[in-house]
Amino acid sequence: MSLNRIVTSSARQPDGAVTLDDVRAARDAIRGVASETPVIPCPELSERAGVPVSLKLETTQPTGAFKLRGAANAVARLSEKQAARGVVCASTGNHGRAVAYAARQREIRAVVCLSSLVPAAKVAAVEAMGGTVRRVGRSQDEAQAEVDRLVAEEGLAEIPPFDDPLVVAGQGTIGLELARQVDDLASVVVPLSGGGLIGGIAVALKALKPKVRVIGVSAAAGPTMFESLRAGRPVAIDERPSLADSLGGGIGLENRVTFELCRRLVDDIVLLDEAEIYRAMRFLFEKARLVTEGAGAAAAAAVLEGRIALTAGPTALIVSGNNVDMTEFLAVVSGRPVRIGDADVIG
Ligand SMILES: *Cc1c(COP(=O)(O)O)cnc(C)c1O
Repeated sequence: MSLNRIVTSSARQPDGAVTLDDVRAARDAIRGVASETPVIPCPELSERAGVPVSLKLETTQPTGAFKLRGAANAVARLSEKQAARGVVCASTGNHGRAVAYAARQREIRAVVCLSSLVPAAKVAAVEAMGGTVRRVGRSQDEAQAEVDRLVAEEGLAEIPPFDDPLVVAGQGTIGLELARQVDDLASVVVPLSGGGLIGGIAVALKALKPKVRVIGVSAAAGPTMFESLRAGRPVAIDERPSLADSLGGGIGLENRVTFELCRRLVDDIVLLDEAEIYRAMRFLFEKARLVTEGAGAAAAAAVLEGRIALTAGPTALIVSGNNVDMTEFLAVVSGRPVRIGDADVIG
Protein backbone atom coordinates (compact mmCIF):
# COMPACT_ATOMS: atom_id res chain seq x y z
CA MET A 1 0.00 0.00 0.00
CA SER A 2 1.38 3.38 -0.86
CA LEU A 3 1.80 6.30 1.46
CA ASN A 4 -1.64 7.74 2.11
CA ARG A 5 -1.66 11.47 2.36
CA ILE A 6 -4.90 12.13 4.14
CA VAL A 7 -4.50 15.29 6.13
CA THR A 8 -2.41 18.33 5.41
CA SER A 9 -2.79 20.09 8.69
CA SER A 10 -0.98 23.32 9.28
CA ALA A 11 -2.57 23.92 12.67
CA ARG A 12 -0.25 26.05 14.77
CA GLN A 13 -2.29 25.88 17.93
CA PRO A 14 -2.89 22.58 19.66
CA ASP A 15 -6.42 21.29 19.95
CA GLY A 16 -8.42 22.95 22.70
CA ALA A 17 -8.86 19.73 24.64
CA VAL A 18 -5.14 19.26 25.41
CA THR A 19 -2.51 22.00 25.45
CA LEU A 20 1.25 22.27 25.80
CA ASP A 21 0.68 23.44 29.37
CA ASP A 22 -1.24 20.24 30.11
CA VAL A 23 1.70 18.23 28.80
CA ARG A 24 4.15 20.24 30.90
CA ALA A 25 2.00 19.67 33.96
CA ALA A 26 1.97 15.94 33.16
CA ARG A 27 5.76 15.90 33.01
CA ASP A 28 5.89 17.10 36.61
CA ALA A 29 3.10 14.78 37.76
CA ILE A 30 4.65 11.57 36.40
CA ARG A 31 8.20 12.20 37.57
CA GLY A 32 9.42 9.26 39.64
CA VAL A 33 6.84 6.86 38.18
CA ALA A 34 7.44 6.94 34.41
CA SER A 35 11.00 7.34 33.09
CA GLU A 36 12.51 9.82 30.72
CA THR A 37 13.57 7.40 27.98
CA PRO A 38 16.79 7.33 25.96
CA VAL A 39 17.16 8.09 22.27
CA ILE A 40 19.73 6.07 20.33
CA PRO A 41 20.96 6.50 16.76
CA CYS A 42 20.12 3.82 14.21
CA PRO A 43 22.89 3.80 11.58
CA GLU A 44 21.24 1.20 9.33
CA LEU A 45 17.95 3.06 9.08
CA SER A 46 19.78 6.39 8.73
CA GLU A 47 21.61 5.00 5.73
CA ARG A 48 18.42 3.69 4.22
CA ALA A 49 16.48 6.93 4.77
CA GLY A 50 19.31 9.33 3.89
CA VAL A 51 18.69 11.35 7.07
CA PRO A 52 19.72 10.74 10.71
CA VAL A 53 17.21 8.30 12.19
CA SER A 54 17.01 7.71 15.93
CA LEU A 55 14.97 5.42 18.12
CA LYS A 56 13.06 6.63 21.20
CA LEU A 57 13.08 3.64 23.52
CA GLU A 58 9.77 3.48 25.36
CA THR A 59 10.67 -0.18 25.83
CA THR A 60 12.83 1.00 28.75
CA GLN A 61 9.81 2.11 30.81
CA PRO A 62 9.41 -0.03 33.95
CA THR A 63 6.32 -1.58 32.32
CA GLY A 64 7.94 -2.00 28.89
CA ALA A 65 5.70 0.51 27.09
CA PHE A 66 4.91 4.23 26.90
CA LYS A 67 1.40 3.78 28.29
CA LEU A 68 2.81 4.26 31.78
CA ARG A 69 3.11 7.99 31.07
CA GLY A 70 -0.61 8.51 30.51
CA ALA A 71 -1.71 6.15 33.27
CA ALA A 72 0.69 7.74 35.77
CA ASN A 73 -0.68 11.19 34.95
CA ALA A 74 -4.31 10.08 35.37
CA VAL A 75 -3.54 8.26 38.64
CA ALA A 76 -1.59 11.24 39.99
CA ARG A 77 -4.60 13.55 39.46
CA LEU A 78 -7.15 11.41 41.32
CA SER A 79 -8.69 13.03 44.37
CA GLU A 80 -8.01 11.32 47.72
CA LYS A 81 -11.60 10.13 47.70
CA GLN A 82 -11.28 8.56 44.24
CA ALA A 83 -7.93 7.08 45.11
CA ALA A 84 -9.41 5.38 48.18
CA ARG A 85 -11.88 3.47 45.98
CA GLY A 86 -9.32 2.46 43.38
CA VAL A 87 -9.08 2.46 39.60
CA VAL A 88 -10.28 0.19 36.81
CA CYS A 89 -9.63 -0.24 33.10
CA ALA A 90 -10.24 -2.63 30.23
CA SER A 91 -7.09 -3.15 28.25
CA THR A 92 -5.32 -5.50 25.88
CA GLY A 93 -2.34 -5.47 28.20
CA ASN A 94 0.02 -2.53 28.04
CA HIS A 95 -2.49 -0.05 29.42
CA GLY A 96 -3.61 -2.50 32.08
CA ARG A 97 -0.03 -3.09 33.08
CA ALA A 98 0.58 0.64 33.24
CA VAL A 99 -2.51 1.32 35.35
CA ALA A 100 -1.56 -1.50 37.73
CA TYR A 101 1.98 -0.19 38.10
CA ALA A 102 0.98 3.46 38.54
CA ALA A 103 -1.69 2.48 41.09
CA ARG A 104 0.80 0.42 43.06
CA GLN A 105 3.19 3.37 43.19
CA ARG A 106 0.41 5.40 44.80
CA GLU A 107 -0.64 2.38 46.91
CA ILE A 108 -4.16 2.19 45.56
CA ARG A 109 -6.24 -0.70 44.20
CA ALA A 110 -6.31 -1.45 40.44
CA VAL A 111 -8.73 -3.84 38.70
CA VAL A 112 -7.97 -4.72 35.07
CA CYS A 113 -10.77 -6.27 33.00
CA LEU A 114 -9.50 -8.36 30.08
CA SER A 115 -11.32 -10.47 27.51
CA SER A 116 -10.42 -14.15 27.36
CA LEU A 117 -8.73 -13.53 23.97
CA VAL A 118 -5.89 -11.46 25.40
CA PRO A 119 -2.61 -13.46 25.18
CA ALA A 120 -1.51 -15.27 28.34
CA ALA A 121 1.81 -13.41 28.49
CA LYS A 122 0.00 -10.09 28.77
CA VAL A 123 -2.35 -11.33 31.51
CA ALA A 124 0.60 -12.54 33.59
CA ALA A 125 2.31 -9.23 32.96
CA VAL A 126 -0.60 -7.26 34.45
CA GLU A 127 -0.61 -9.52 37.52
CA ALA A 128 3.13 -9.12 37.91
CA MET A 129 2.61 -5.35 38.21
CA GLY A 130 0.25 -5.83 41.15
CA GLY A 131 -3.08 -5.47 39.34
CA THR A 132 -6.13 -7.67 39.95
CA VAL A 133 -7.14 -9.20 36.61
CA ARG A 134 -10.80 -9.92 35.93
CA ARG A 135 -11.29 -12.02 32.79
CA VAL A 136 -14.66 -11.40 31.21
CA GLY A 137 -16.20 -12.35 27.87
CA ARG A 138 -14.60 -12.74 24.48
CA SER A 139 -14.49 -9.18 23.34
CA GLN A 140 -13.29 -5.76 24.35
CA ASP A 141 -16.96 -4.70 24.60
CA GLU A 142 -17.67 -7.30 27.26
CA ALA A 143 -14.57 -6.31 29.23
CA GLN A 144 -15.71 -2.69 28.99
CA ALA A 145 -19.19 -3.59 30.27
CA GLU A 146 -17.55 -4.98 33.42
CA VAL A 147 -15.60 -1.72 33.82
CA ASP A 148 -18.84 0.26 33.55
CA ARG A 149 -20.39 -1.96 36.22
CA LEU A 150 -17.47 -1.47 38.63
CA VAL A 151 -17.61 2.28 38.11
CA ALA A 152 -21.40 2.41 38.66
CA GLU A 153 -21.67 -0.11 41.50
CA GLU A 154 -18.39 0.17 43.38
CA GLY A 155 -17.34 3.71 42.57
CA LEU A 156 -13.99 2.86 40.99
CA ALA A 157 -12.44 5.50 38.72
CA GLU A 158 -11.97 4.44 35.11
CA ILE A 159 -8.63 5.21 33.47
CA PRO A 160 -9.21 5.08 29.68
CA PRO A 161 -6.41 3.82 27.40
CA PHE A 162 -6.33 6.81 25.05
CA ASP A 163 -9.44 8.98 24.81
CA ASP A 164 -8.84 11.11 27.87
CA PRO A 165 -7.13 14.52 28.18
CA LEU A 166 -4.91 13.46 31.11
CA VAL A 167 -3.83 10.27 29.36
CA VAL A 168 -3.08 12.15 26.13
CA ALA A 169 -1.12 14.79 28.07
CA GLY A 170 0.92 12.03 29.73
CA GLN A 171 1.84 10.44 26.39
CA GLY A 172 2.70 13.93 25.14
CA THR A 173 5.66 14.11 27.52
CA ILE A 174 7.50 12.07 24.87
CA GLY A 175 7.20 15.11 22.61
CA LEU A 176 8.77 17.39 25.22
CA GLU A 177 11.70 15.00 25.58
CA LEU A 178 12.20 14.64 21.81
CA ALA A 179 12.26 18.40 21.31
CA ARG A 180 15.22 18.49 23.68
CA GLN A 181 16.92 15.20 22.77
CA VAL A 182 17.01 15.36 18.94
CA ASP A 183 18.75 18.30 17.28
CA ASP A 184 16.84 19.83 14.36
CA LEU A 185 14.06 17.28 14.64
CA ALA A 186 12.12 17.30 11.35
CA SER A 187 9.86 14.24 11.51
CA VAL A 188 8.52 11.88 14.14
CA VAL A 189 7.04 8.49 13.24
CA VAL A 190 4.56 7.08 15.74
CA PRO A 191 2.61 3.82 16.03
CA LEU A 192 -1.10 4.71 15.89
CA SER A 193 -4.14 2.93 17.23
CA GLY A 194 -6.52 4.95 19.41
CA GLY A 195 -4.39 8.06 18.90
CA GLY A 196 -3.43 8.91 22.47
CA LEU A 197 0.27 8.48 21.77
CA ILE A 198 0.43 10.39 18.51
CA GLY A 199 -2.11 12.98 19.69
CA GLY A 200 -0.09 13.84 22.80
CA ILE A 201 3.21 13.93 20.93
CA ALA A 202 1.67 16.14 18.23
CA VAL A 203 0.26 18.60 20.78
CA ALA A 204 3.70 19.06 22.34
CA LEU A 205 5.80 19.08 19.18
CA LYS A 206 3.54 21.21 16.98
CA ALA A 207 3.46 23.81 19.75
CA LEU A 208 7.24 23.78 20.32
CA LYS A 209 8.39 23.16 16.73
CA PRO A 210 5.51 23.80 14.32
CA LYS A 211 7.41 22.50 11.28
CA VAL A 212 7.89 18.98 12.63
CA ARG A 213 5.98 16.40 10.58
CA VAL A 214 4.00 13.89 12.62
CA ILE A 215 3.44 10.60 10.82
CA GLY A 216 1.29 7.77 12.13
CA VAL A 217 1.76 4.08 11.40
CA SER A 218 -1.10 1.60 11.76
CA ALA A 219 -1.64 -2.05 10.92
CA ALA A 220 -3.59 -2.59 7.69
CA ALA A 221 -5.37 -5.34 9.66
CA GLY A 222 -7.22 -2.73 11.72
CA PRO A 223 -6.68 0.90 10.69
CA THR A 224 -9.62 2.42 12.58
CA MET A 225 -8.23 5.94 12.97
CA PHE A 226 -7.19 6.03 9.31
CA GLU A 227 -10.67 4.98 8.16
CA SER A 228 -12.30 7.38 10.62
CA LEU A 229 -10.27 10.32 9.31
CA ARG A 230 -11.20 9.37 5.76
CA ALA A 231 -14.87 9.20 6.72
CA GLY A 232 -14.66 12.50 8.61
CA ARG A 233 -16.07 10.94 11.80
CA PRO A 234 -15.25 8.01 14.10
CA VAL A 235 -16.25 4.71 12.48
CA ALA A 236 -16.07 1.06 13.49
CA ILE A 237 -14.36 -1.36 11.11
CA ASP A 238 -13.89 -5.12 10.86
CA GLU A 239 -10.47 -5.96 12.17
CA ARG A 240 -8.25 -8.94 11.52
CA PRO A 241 -5.77 -10.24 14.11
CA SER A 242 -2.30 -8.69 13.78
CA LEU A 243 1.25 -9.30 14.89
CA ALA A 244 0.88 -5.75 16.21
CA ASP A 245 -1.90 -6.71 18.63
CA SER A 246 -1.42 -3.47 20.61
CA LEU A 247 -2.57 -1.56 17.53
CA GLY A 248 -5.97 -3.27 17.47
CA GLY A 249 -9.28 -1.98 18.83
CA GLY A 250 -11.56 0.85 17.83
CA ILE A 251 -11.32 4.55 18.61
CA GLY A 252 -14.84 4.71 20.11
CA LEU A 253 -17.82 6.01 18.15
CA GLU A 254 -18.23 8.66 20.84
CA ASN A 255 -14.56 9.67 20.66
CA ARG A 256 -14.04 12.96 22.50
CA VAL A 257 -10.36 13.83 22.25
CA THR A 258 -8.09 11.82 19.97
CA PHE A 259 -10.06 11.86 16.71
CA GLU A 260 -10.08 15.64 16.67
CA LEU A 261 -6.39 15.82 17.65
CA CYS A 262 -5.42 13.45 14.85
CA ARG A 263 -7.60 15.29 12.35
CA ARG A 264 -5.87 18.54 13.15
CA LEU A 265 -2.29 17.54 13.86
CA VAL A 266 -1.34 14.30 12.09
CA ASP A 267 0.28 14.90 8.71
CA ASP A 268 0.27 11.39 7.20
CA ILE A 269 -0.63 7.81 8.04
CA VAL A 270 1.11 4.69 6.70
CA LEU A 271 -0.59 1.26 6.79
CA LEU A 272 1.57 -1.84 7.23
CA ASP A 273 0.95 -5.43 6.29
CA GLU A 274 1.93 -8.29 8.58
CA ALA A 275 5.12 -9.28 6.75
CA GLU A 276 6.40 -5.71 7.06
CA ILE A 277 5.84 -5.74 10.82
CA TYR A 278 7.54 -9.13 11.08
CA ARG A 279 10.62 -7.95 9.18
CA ALA A 280 10.94 -4.85 11.35
CA MET A 281 10.82 -6.87 14.59
CA ARG A 282 13.55 -9.08 13.19
CA PHE A 283 15.55 -6.09 11.96
CA LEU A 284 15.45 -4.29 15.32
CA PHE A 285 16.66 -7.41 17.07
CA GLU A 286 19.44 -8.15 14.60
CA LYS A 287 20.72 -4.63 14.09
CA ALA A 288 19.82 -2.73 17.26
CA ARG A 289 19.60 -5.72 19.65
CA LEU A 290 16.13 -4.61 20.71
CA VAL A 291 13.24 -6.78 21.81
CA THR A 292 10.01 -5.24 20.52
CA GLU A 293 6.40 -6.27 20.11
CA GLY A 294 4.78 -5.80 16.70
CA ALA A 295 3.41 -2.35 17.52
CA GLY A 296 6.80 -1.35 18.92
CA ALA A 297 8.46 -2.15 15.58
CA ALA A 298 5.83 -0.41 13.42
CA ALA A 299 7.56 2.94 13.05
CA ALA A 300 10.81 1.20 12.11
CA ALA A 301 8.89 -0.90 9.57
CA ALA A 302 7.62 2.22 7.79
CA VAL A 303 11.19 3.48 7.34
CA LEU A 304 12.75 0.08 6.66
CA GLU A 305 10.26 -0.54 3.85
CA GLY A 306 10.82 2.91 2.35
CA ARG A 307 7.23 3.89 2.92
CA ILE A 308 7.93 7.46 4.05
CA ALA A 309 9.90 10.19 2.28
CA LEU A 310 12.04 11.63 5.07
CA THR A 311 13.94 14.24 3.13
CA ALA A 312 13.07 16.92 5.69
CA GLY A 313 15.86 15.88 8.09
CA PRO A 314 16.47 14.18 11.45
CA THR A 315 13.74 11.70 12.25
CA ALA A 316 12.74 10.03 15.50
CA LEU A 317 10.90 6.71 15.58
CA ILE A 318 8.86 5.81 18.64
CA VAL A 319 9.70 2.25 19.70
CA SER A 320 6.53 1.98 21.76
CA GLY A 321 6.67 -1.33 23.61
CA ASN A 322 8.24 -4.73 24.19
CA ASN A 323 5.49 -6.86 25.66
CA VAL A 324 5.65 -9.74 23.27
CA ASP A 325 5.02 -13.42 23.82
CA MET A 326 8.49 -15.02 23.92
CA THR A 327 7.57 -18.01 21.76
CA GLU A 328 6.22 -15.66 19.11
CA PHE A 329 9.25 -13.38 19.35
CA LEU A 330 11.71 -16.26 19.06
CA ALA A 331 9.90 -17.52 15.96
CA VAL A 332 10.09 -14.08 14.34
CA VAL A 333 13.76 -13.49 15.04
CA SER A 334 14.62 -17.00 13.84
CA GLY A 335 12.77 -16.39 10.57
CA ARG A 336 10.12 -19.03 11.27
CA PRO A 337 6.42 -18.52 10.46
CA VAL A 338 4.08 -17.32 13.21
CA ARG A 339 0.38 -18.07 13.36
CA ILE A 340 -1.70 -14.88 13.44
CA GLY A 341 -5.43 -15.60 13.35
CA ASP A 342 -5.80 -18.20 10.60
CA ALA A 343 -2.76 -17.14 8.59
CA ASP A 344 0.96 -17.93 8.80
CA VAL A 345 3.05 -14.77 8.74
CA ILE A 346 6.67 -14.72 7.63
CA GLY A 347 8.88 -11.84 6.53
C1 LIG B 1 -1.28 1.35 22.93
C2 LIG B 1 -0.08 1.12 22.12
C3 LIG B 1 0.14 1.79 20.91
C4 LIG B 1 -0.89 2.73 20.30
O1 LIG B 1 -1.17 3.84 21.13
P1 LIG B 1 -2.51 4.69 20.93
O2 LIG B 1 -2.46 5.74 21.94
O3 LIG B 1 -3.66 3.73 21.15
O4 LIG B 1 -2.52 5.17 19.52
C5 LIG B 1 1.34 1.57 20.25
N1 LIG B 1 2.26 0.73 20.72
C6 LIG B 1 2.10 0.06 21.87
C7 LIG B 1 3.16 -0.85 22.33
C8 LIG B 1 0.92 0.23 22.62
O5 LIG B 1 0.77 -0.44 23.77
